[in-house]
Amino acid sequence: MPKLGTPTGTLEILRKYDFHFQKKYGQNFLIDPNKLEAIVDAAKVGEEDCVLEIGPGIGTLTQYLAGRAGSVIAVEIDQALIPILKDTLSDYHNVTVINEDILKVDIARLSQEKNAGKPFKVVANLPYYITTPIIMKLFESRAPIDLITIMVQTEVAQRMQEGPGSKEYGALSLAVQYYSRPEIVAHVPAECFIPAPKVGSSVIRLTRYETPPVQVKDEDFLFRLIRASFNQRRKTLVNGLGNAQGLAVTKAEAAEALRKMELPENVRGEALSLEQFARLSDLLLETGGSGS
Ligand code: SAM
Repeated sequence: MPKLGTPTGTLEILRKYDFHFQKKYGQNFLIDPNKLEAIVDAAKVGEEDCVLEIGPGIGTLTQYLAGRAGSVIAVEIDQALIPILKDTLSDYHNVTVINEDILKVDIARLSQEKNAGKPFKVVANLPYYITTPIIMKLFESRAPIDLITIMVQTEVAQRMQEGPGSKEYGALSLAVQYYSRPEIVAHVPAECFIPAPKVGSSVIRLTRYETPPVQVKDEDFLFRLIRASFNQRRKTLVNGLGNAQGLAVTKAEAAEALRKMELPENVRGEALSLEQFARLSDLLLETGGSGS
């Protein structure tokens, strides 16, 4: 099987198997060898690494990863791609393909079973329709993962890096920056994919922190507070949090906590840094905010 990653090689495989793209699965396959090499370089993959790839498609990026990693576990939802992967990856004996929805996979268990509980490196050209749920799952699953290198929509990559005051700043920025240090490492034009996506694409690398940059009494409460603060973006924090379900915070308690932090009573969530959210989270818990 020749190496994939060119337009002709990809079209040949698609024709051979009469494969039809499934829009619902966000299928845009990479066809540029330089970009493929750049992704594997950015992911710092070496012989000692076990890579978790999400959505291998016809196995293009998988081949590049398998050439450098100790092993690759590739999770693909589309059953129609499984016989194709068997063919395109037949020369790579360090690859395991799992036909499953990544959102249903127990990643911590997978790392126990396949990598003796050691950290995975995650590398993926992600399906854009579920970028945020996948990233949140990777962080919240508490699976050992030390580096995540993923292709996402450029706008989403930028959102992960934003700070307070920007229009794009929100719950995703705060979650990513709580767990990791984000760096955009490449921009990838639409013509590097079949079919070409209608949005710009970028590769972002998330280097997982060993300990988060802020400490809080209750991480779960911090994230519910953050989500509630951006759910109703236009509302002031006092109004947004006072109405939020599941926080058990009154408007008076929210106002009092902001006063202690010397923030104006009409401040909105988008003005607060991660450090300020952490402080607010602890203050609200002291005055009655609830853990579930
Ligand atoms: N890695 C390939 C490449 O770069 O050419 C394909 C990338 S394509 C953007 C996304 C892949 O993710 C598709 O193969 C799609 O079927 C798969 N996919 C979509 N949703 C998924 C899910 N929930 N779990 C696992 N794979 C999924």
